[in-house]
Amino acid sequence: MKHAVKERTQRLVVPVGSVLLGAGDVVVQSMTNTDTADAQATFQQVHELWQAGSELVRITVNNEAAAEAVPEIIDRLGAAGCQVPVVGDFHYNGHELLRKYPKTAEKLAKFRINPGNVGFGRNKDKQFAEIITIAKDLEKPVRIGANWGSLDQKILAQMMDENARREVPQSAEVIMQEALIHSALDSAGQALDLGLSENQIVISCKVSNVQSLIAIYRKLHQRCDFPLHLGLTEAGMGSKGIVASTAALAVLLQEGIGDTIRISLTPEPGQSRTEEVVVAQELLQSLGVRAFAPMVTACPGCGRTTSQFFQELAQKTTHYIRQHMPTWRVQHPGVENLSVAVMGCIVNGPGESRHADIGISLPGTGESPAAPVFIDGKKVTTLRGDNISDEFLDIIGQYVQTRYGRAKTPS
Ligand code: SF4
Repeated sequence: MKHAVKERTQRLVVPVGSVLLGAGDVVVQSMTNTDTADAQATFQQVHELWQAGSELVRITVNNEAAAEAVPEIIDRLGAAGCQVPVVGDFHYNGHELLRKYPKTAEKLAKFRINPGNVGFGRNKDKQFAEIITIAKDLEKPVRIGANWGSLDQKILAQMMDENARREVPQSAEVIMQEALIHSALDSAGQALDLGLSENQIVISCKVSNVQSLIAIYRKLHQRCDFPLHLGLTEAGMGSKGIVASTAALAVLLQEGIGDTIRISLTPEPGQSRTEEVVVAQELLQSLGVRAFAPMVTACPGCGRTTSQFFQELAQKTTHYIRQHMPTWRVQHPGVENLSVAVMGCIVNGPGESRHADIGISLPGTGESPAAPVFIDGKKVTTLRGDNISDEFLDIIGQYVQTRYGRAKTPS
């Protein structure tokens, strides 16, 4: 390897379609779970993920039917006004599929390969070189993504043997981390030697353990300048997946590590795939790294507000904002910085509502049935009766129209 491991100088920037990785903004990525060969279903899911705010979408290209469907999927997205860069995920047969389906190779914005899974034995280096050569010829970026589940066992065994011969051996965990880093950076070095430019490589090293992920990415950040894709692999379902991913990624993002992120949630049966996008956005927004959608501050509720009305309004407000974001994002730039408060009683209600751009302080148990609304720190009206929810949502809609105006359309 000639190039990859070196003193850090300046982070590299990798263009993926219209998105720049490493240029500053941390980019939200997601992945489909449809059968890619089903062009209609995959188009729909990519479109849905994009509408939710995903800025890169990865699809698996695992067989000939999938490879054949890719151009149709991307053409349909273009016809629907969706220019989201689509990344192709290749394992074992990627070299064959990219060679046999040149239109697919041409249409994809990036290839994602795993050095442990490009081939076996003597064919591994040859197949890796074939994919890299196609990427070089088409000027496509490549994510070299090492994964604990498919780490090259030969590298691991070799490093374990070397470690065992040391006077003071390191723990098996540390050697595993080093093997993953070695696998990714050594493959990046090979890709550079094959003629891929430095601005065409993104690195990821995925594990499912939070502390290992943090340790690995701190080392990667020190040892290379390539943009880094962060994600805790196999994070799991529901709150476990969200908490584990957030625990790992928040530490790294806080240290300025990471250029793209994905939250690898296992969806509940029937649940929308877009949850992973929402969680990624909320993580970045909570850290103050980026803003994607207005934040709704709501108190947790307590014995002072015993009706469900307050929880329902907080939920309706969040839903209303998410529903409108695809159009607001285009028509009202800056709306993502809006803050809304929905509060349960007079104790903290008026104060928190004044701090938000728009806030409502609902009556707690035994309080007068009136809900003062605050805009830009001033009380503007008091809502009463059965229509409080609809009236409050209308106030938010009108405020967005007035404060964030309309985006200028190119003349
Ligand atoms: S604002 Fe009122 S209802 Fe909400 S948590 Fe505080 S005391 Fe309880």
